[in-house]
Amino acid sequence: MSYVRPPNEAHKTLTERMRYLASGTKYDSCNQSAVCHAFAPDGRCIQLYKTLLTNYCSGECTYCPNRCERDTPRVSLSPDEIVKITWSFYRRNVVEGLFLSSGVLGDAENTSEKQLEVARKLRSQGFQGYIHMRLMPGTPKYLLEEIADVANKFGVNAETTSSTNYSEVCPNFDYKTDVLQRLKWTKELIIQKRKEVGYGGRIIGANDTQFVVGAADESDRDIVHTVNKFMDKYDLRRPYFMSFDPVSDTPLEHNTPSPQWREVRLYQTSYLLKDYGLRARDLDEIYTDTGFLKDQDPKVLLAQCNSEIFPIDINNANLQELLLVPGIGPVSASRIMRSRPVNCEQELVRMGVVITRARPYIKLKGCCQTNLSAFMEVCS
Ligand code: SF4
Repeated sequence: MSYVRPPNEAHKTLTERMRYLASGTKYDSCNQSAVCHAFAPDGRCIQLYKTLLTNYCSGECTYCPNRCERDTPRVSLSPDEIVKITWSFYRRNVVEGLFLSSGVLGDAENTSEKQLEVARKLRSQGFQGYIHMRLMPGTPKYLLEEIADVANKFGVNAETTSSTNYSEVCPNFDYKTDVLQRLKWTKELIIQKRKEVGYGGRIIGANDTQFVVGAADESDRDIVHTVNKFMDKYDLRRPYFMSFDPVSDTPLEHNTPSPQWREVRLYQTSYLLKDYGLRARDLDEIYTDTGFLKDQDPKVLLAQCNSEIFPIDINNANLQELLLVPGIGPVSASRIMRSRPVNCEQELVRMGVVITRARPYIKLKGCCQTNLSAFMEVCS
């Protein structure tokens, strides 16, 4: 497929276009540099070259700097240029793969075809790196199937928690058909690909989606319950969150920005679902009366809400009780289970326990590791 560069961007250099399109991924996770971090299915943190194919967009999402009505420089990279840049970073070990998103170039089909073209060209040239594709709402099923043959991870942004909220912030798309239906198809394709023998040795990640936190008026409780539902229904493992930050010349330019800590606390809460086996309903007590997280570690808040079960006896607690202790994570909890009896704090430290956090909540050999006032200090 040949690529014709729009005439008004002909004077922009490749570096200028790369810079625009790296910053244009603002609402597609991570940061605004050309390299972002992602998690491989084995949990490893990897660096990816992150870019939009184009910031031209026919969409009118109310928070987005790339919405069609906004007066902003528009640029594109051709599929061949992206392939070349990716190889260049990859060969120099700057990145382990590519994160590719885009504005909607005409329609979802046309845009996803171009994203597919990039991935196909890379694979046909022997590229073994990781390919993570954020696709357009409404991407046709046949293209999802073809993308599943070449990408490691792909999905569509949910942005928010309900059809009503979605229609307010993304008026060109339909939540149920353009987003949820695509997440369902993606899940089915992932299951199918994992079963296929000879999938080129390529690892395939879980479903992928992102929420723009604070653009619509959903609460954190709504978001956490939606994430839990998506984990159950669509094989979502790690949701991405991006704090809403008002952009000039958009309908939400005068709205209040969402604090950065809210994004951090939502990530921490999502880890409690994914890594600690908790359900969204187990966390219902940690929110404010209006359903928002506080700027405190959600695990400490959860312990505070369940203070009657502490201190727990390290040598008698079951796995789920150990996991409720701040400072004990899934890895250190299973080490404790395998190594009991534990005799002293030093042994816990060697198992990875953050003892200063855990101390107020545990008993060792029948003795509390701290007094009540220290406990209250940690909880406050
Ligand atoms: S579809 Fe919406 S969020 Fe995506 S680039 Fe276009 S306006 Fe922005």
